[in-house]
Amino acid sequence: MTRKSEIIFNEANKYIPNGVSSPMRTFSLVGGDPIILESAKGTKIIDVDGREYTDFLSGFGAIFLGHSREEISQAVAAQLDKGLVVGLSTEIEKELARKIVESTPAIDKLRFVVSGSEAVMTALRIARAYTDRKYFVRFVGSYHGHADALLAQPGGNVAVAVKGTTNGVAENNVIMCEYNNSEQLRQIFEERGHEIAAVIVEPFATNMGFVKPHANFHQDIRQLCTDYGSLFIFDEVVTGFRFRFGGVSALLGVDPDLTTFGKIIGGGAPVGAYGGKEKFMKLVEIGNKVFQSGTFAGNPITMAAGNAALDLMAKPGFYEAMDEKGALLEKEIKQNFEKYDIPFHFTRFGALSGIAFRRSAADMQNYSDVKQQEYEIYKNVHLAMREKGFLMAPSLEEPIFLNDAHTNDDIIRFAEALAVSIAEQIK
Ligand SMILES: *Cc1c(COP(=O)(O)O)cnc(C)c1O
Repeated sequence: MTRKSEIIFNEANKYIPNGVSSPMRTFSLVGGDPIILESAKGTKIIDVDGREYTDFLSGFGAIFLGHSREEISQAVAAQLDKGLVVGLSTEIEKELARKIVESTPAIDKLRFVVSGSEAVMTALRIARAYTDRKYFVRFVGSYHGHADALLAQPGGNVAVAVKGTTNGVAENNVIMCEYNNSEQLRQIFEERGHEIAAVIVEPFATNMGFVKPHANFHQDIRQLCTDYGSLFIFDEVVTGFRFRFGGVSALLGVDPDLTTFGKIIGGGAPVGAYGGKEKFMKLVEIGNKVFQSGTFAGNPITMAAGNAALDLMAKPGFYEAMDEKGALLEKEIKQNFEKYDIPFHFTRFGALSGIAFRRSAADMQNYSDVKQQEYEIYKNVHLAMREKGFLMAPSLEEPIFLNDAHTNDDIIRFAEALAVSIAEQIK
């Protein structure tokens, strides 16, 4: 470790557990020392020791227009002189809500919170209050933020052994199901359907690397939820506004009851939102069953950044251009994998993609497939990529995040460097 990073990180460890505010920043899943950020602009990150990286982490997907995008910075700067948090409603809050509601058929109304975790927590609260049931189904390997309910152990009490679980949760109401396994979900509903408040699922599993849903997976969930009076919650914290202007539900032909957003819609500022059908959203109105509030909910800085981001994404051709970047990445990776004889499989939807680090030409279907990957190889590849000047997610269970600032050159150089780095490890 070079000097400045080491000094800062050692100091940070005195005041902050592990020196970080969110665990993946330790890089403990990949090895190597944590990067201490100096600045980020476009796709270029510079650390405190002056090392430069081309970024393929994109703020874990929250950055979709490049770092420090001028239009967003200007909108935030303009708001800085008008008040940070005043505890009053704003026009820009109404505007951001309008853009999301009008672009997402599954949403009649929505509210802003400050994180994806909060959005998910509140959606679940609404589902429980509406159904007067307490259990919910989530899928093995998924991650929906760190709200208590979502992190409960699916039986037993051994912290961290099961992905996305923790000790310290008072009540465990989680029923686990395998992703892409409609038959298992059907069995769960046959046994306990009338106790299930909700099923929560990611449209694409983006916390298992990148796993696509089967053709009928979401429709099956929708049908079971309808049959048993449970709510269908679509966690679009990653997918929202990533493939089209609005939720991906409209693209997949899925009609969820509640949808959660985060990441992209804040333009890089802290954000979450939950929305859905009027009859469910009505529950958070004054005097009704569900309470939700927040000092920073809908704060003007986030609203300014979010509006600026969505205005850029609403421009004609934006999503076509993002898809072209994804297509270029696919072409370059596949060509380089062939050239360097790499047996791993690339999969993509729009600008979101992942590589299965296992010797199979098939897409991964569920978390068992994910766990078959060669995690040791990814560790070394991650480090080798850092040395070549590229930042990838510090976990194999994250996708490759493209953003609007990526140039063809960034993508071409990344694909070649990645193939070379993998080839070094598997020879
Ligand atoms: C990141 C994420 C969350 C949590 O959002 P935070 O803003 O980190 O609280 C929820 N669901 C999914 C699918 C996510 O990827």
